[in-house]
Amino acid sequence: MRLLLVEDNRRLGELVCEGLRTAGYAVDWVTSIDEAEAALEAARIDLMLLDLGLPDGDGIDLIRRLRRARNMTPILVLTARSGLNDRITGLDSGADDFLVKPFAIEELSARCRALLRRPDRGLPPQLILGNVALDPGERTVSVGDVRQDLGRKEIDLLEVLLRRAEHVVSKPMLEDSMYNMNEDVSANAIEAAVSRLRRHLKEAQATVEIRTVHGLGYSISAQQKSS
Ligand code: CA
Repeated sequence: MRLLLVEDNRRLGELVCEGLRTAGYAVDWVTSIDEAEAALEAARIDLMLLDLGLPDGDGIDLIRRLRRARNMTPILVLTARSGLNDRITGLDSGADDFLVKPFAIEELSARCRALLRRPDRGLPPQLILGNVALDPGERTVSVGDVRQDLGRKEIDLLEVLLRRAEHVVSKPMLEDSMYNMNEDVSANAIEAAVSRLRRHLKEAQATVEIRTVHGLGYSISAQQKSS
């Protein structure tokens, strides 16, 4: 899950980033509306956390622009403005939820989970292929009935592949979903993660396989019965 934080307060930005990364999200942090728009164009964002008072404008205007353009990225507004009017304006403009500063990271994390899980966002409760099931909200993977002990990167990788099962997913697309913009990705990080995931799935007797499509990327599919 990829989150975009738009917050110009350094201290708060750092705290929120740290808290959400610990909770397992890839977080990109920008400090202005301009940068937020660029980030939204550059990558698929699952949830935007938006401060309203930003150096180059009002967050509410950004929400209005996005909604008018049919961009339905879930938006959680983080604001110090606790007035009722601001909340109503925000929700009217198309924000999905509000959190008034100061807030506890645990509460923020719970609100994010709730927004990412909303059924009307088209997020299925489970991604299933063969005997493998991944729960995007809980970040858990099971093979048959057995819960698997997988690293965070392997779960991210499996999620992206499952969302596009039977299709080729390119390496840049995987990097994009698994790492945030400021993380250094070593040249063979994706290959290493794929081989760890493959080994793990094989040992767990999963009935799916990850194929390498040379020069293009990777693809996951259910195993043929004969093999
Ligand atoms: Ca601000």
